[in-house]
Amino acid sequence: MTQDTIDHAQPLTVLAEDETIFRDSVRDFAEAQIRPLVREMDEHAKIPQSLIDQLFALGVMGIEIPEAHGGAGGRFFHAVLAVEELSRVDPSIGVFVDVQNTLVINALLRYGNDDIKRRWLPALASGTVGAYALSEAGSGSDAFALTTRAREDGDVYVLTGRKLWITNGNEANLFIVFATINPDAGYRGITAFLVERGMPGFTVGKKEDKLGIRASSTCELVFEDCRVPKAQILGDIGKGYKTAIETLNEGRIGIGAQMIGLARGALGHAIRYTKERRQFGKAIADFQGVQFQIARAAMEIEAATLTVYNAARLRDAGRPFLTEAAICKIFSSEVAERVASLAVNLLGGNGFVKEYPVEKLFRDAKIGQIYEGTSNLQLQTIAKQILG
Ligand SMILES: Cc1cc2nc3c(=O)[nH]c(=O)nc-3n(C[C@H](O)[C@H](O)[C@H](O)COP(=O)(O)OP(=O)(O)OC[C@H]3O[C@@H](n4cnc5c(N)ncnc54)[C@H](O)[C@@H]3O)c2cc1C
Repeated sequence: MTQDTIDHAQPLTVLAEDETIFRDSVRDFAEAQIRPLVREMDEHAKIPQSLIDQLFALGVMGIEIPEAHGGAGGRFFHAVLAVEELSRVDPSIGVFVDVQNTLVINALLRYGNDDIKRRWLPALASGTVGAYALSEAGSGSDAFALTTRAREDGDVYVLTGRKLWITNGNEANLFIVFATINPDAGYRGITAFLVERGMPGFTVGKKEDKLGIRASSTCELVFEDCRVPKAQILGDIGKGYKTAIETLNEGRIGIGAQMIGLARGALGHAIRYTKERRQFGKAIADFQGVQFQIARAAMEIEAATLTVYNAARLRDAGRPFLTEAAICKIFSSEVAERVASLAVNLLGGNGFVKEYPVEKLFRDAKIGQIYEGTSNLQLQTIAKQILG
């Protein structure tokens, strides 16, 4: 890099004008419309349809969809900002929007042919929720050991099998489903299909009762001789593994964004509380022991934010980002867990009860180390890249 380019390089956390306006509009929306619903959504494990409608109206359900297809015409970085801001208030809404943008729309934009784009992108921008179905009971980390079968029959493929842990399963109308057309071919048999809710042979099964992100639905999908037209194959036959790897590599930057948003939310609650709560005749934030804990949390969030923004900006710049995305996910999710745990401690007894918001964030934080590749799998990716 020349001195000239270094002089003119933008600091990572300085937002462009359009990014600032977008971030602020999502932040204001989250505070005004989501904040009052957080506890109720957690208790009932459900996102109200009225809030989903508002998310579509806000434009965050079709961020990268081109304006010509009815979307917001934004960049991946905008999606990261939206997920971060929503997760600051409720990580369940963060992941709802994240899956729609960084997995489903991302895959359609990259692998959809013109017919698929014309048919589905306007729908996804205006009211259709998407889901991304790769995992099965026997294939989580080892995702390409999946056994959902797709048998060719004339101009359709017949899908049989079960998917597990599918985010947005309860709300989605469009599902990207990975199945194998030839188990003997290993990962080279994997193919991605677009399946619509209501297609004969397809049912959404059990909804999981979870520790955290409870408002985000996590469902089983059941395929019993579900006939999917060949026109609904996403990408090339036998290249579904590539679709899965490439979208998940990007998707995990979104999970990094969810986790820094969560950590920021938890720290905000802790700062407000410690400035108000008085013990030994002063605010507990006046004790140096508390100040240092808060300073350390702020330091960790700053570092995590840099890893997330860097990975997202590398992706938008068309540069390699595989290692950076893995680093941002594992690091941000660990920071989120530590900061949310600290927030519980700093609120004392109030940190442990549902009347205050931090116990929920503590529960929500755990998922960051599990989905879209567990922390061990991220370490495996990083190690493979740096050790060769
Ligand atoms: C709330 C939630 C939402 C989800 N949403 C989706 C979704 O929308 N779509 C979807 O397809 N999936 C989804 N998943 C599935 C998720 O991606 C998997 O749970 C995850 O990949 C881990 O798989 P597993 O649960 O089978 O754990 P396992 O793979 O059995 O892992 C168990 C433990 O073993 C470790 N481990 C496994 N293999 C290795 C190895 N080679 N080296 C070292 N350690 C290893 C793991 O790190 C982990 O600690 C979701 C899961 C949850 C809980």
